[in-house]
Order: sequence, then C-alpha cells, then structure tokens
Amino acid sequence: MDCIFCKIIKGEIPSNKVYEDDTVLAFHDIAPQMPVHVIVIPKQHIECAADIKEDNSAVVAHIFEVIAKIGKDLGLANGYRIINNCGEDGGQTVKHLHFHLLGGEKLGEKLVK
Ligand code: 5GP
Ligand code: ZN
Repeated sequence: MDCIFCKIIKGEIPSNKVYEDDTVLAFHDIAPQMPVHVIVIPKQHIECAADIKEDNSAVVAHIFEVIAKIGKDLGLANGYRIINNCGEDGGQTVKHLHFHLLGGEKLGEKLVK
C-alpha cells in the first residue's frame, strides 16, 4: 500500500518523532503551519474519520490521551487546536487518519477560511 504515514510508521520514511507507543505515533509536520504542528496517527491504517467504527474507535480515544500528554510536554499550557481533515471536501491529502495538533500562538475564533 502506498501510504506515506504507514511508511513513516515502518521507518521507511524518516520523521521527527514526538511520541510513540504500540498503537500511536506522533511526529512534527514536515511543513509546519504553526510554531508547534504535530501529526498524531494510529499505527493501524484507518483511511479517514468516516471509517471510525466500534471495532477501531478505542485508538481514537487513546490518541486524545496522547494529545493531552504532548500538549503538556511541549509547553502548550495556554491551549491548542486539534484538526482532522476527512475526505475530499475536508481537504485531506494523506489518506491515513491523522490529527493535527497546532499551537504556540493564539489562533482566531474562526474555524475555517
Ligand atoms: P492533511 O492535509 O491530509 O490533513 O494533512 C497532511 C499533513 O501531512 C500535511 O500537513 C503535510 O505537511 C504532512 N505531511 C505530508 N507528508 C509528510 C511527510 O512525509 N512527513 C511529515 N512529517 N509530514 C508530512
Ligand atoms: Zn497508512
């Protein structure tokens, strides 16, 4: 399967890791859009948020525990934004479920555009 994030998980593409355990990996985005821009992914290949079901949703809960830990570890005590893009209309470019953790400066209240 030609999935960039699966290749990062396997170590075939290098990444700047922030956190790793048996089921979740987090690494710095290659093209950061904020002072802190971390990508958090399940190691299991789930294509997008629309594919989250009862039998794979536990890892999503775990991802949010990991995000809380990373937020603390990276000093984002003032807050951050978590973004998930799903599918074509959602602007998803890498078809492996991922959450963007963005922080390090104050964002506006507008969500999009
Ligand atoms: P999406 O647009 O699918 O929500 O986000 C994909 C993100 O993955 C983008 O922010 C992009 O910069 C990041 N990205 C794409 N390829 C790589 C890569 O090879 N390494 C890293 N670290 N990030 C990547
Ligand atoms: Zn994948």
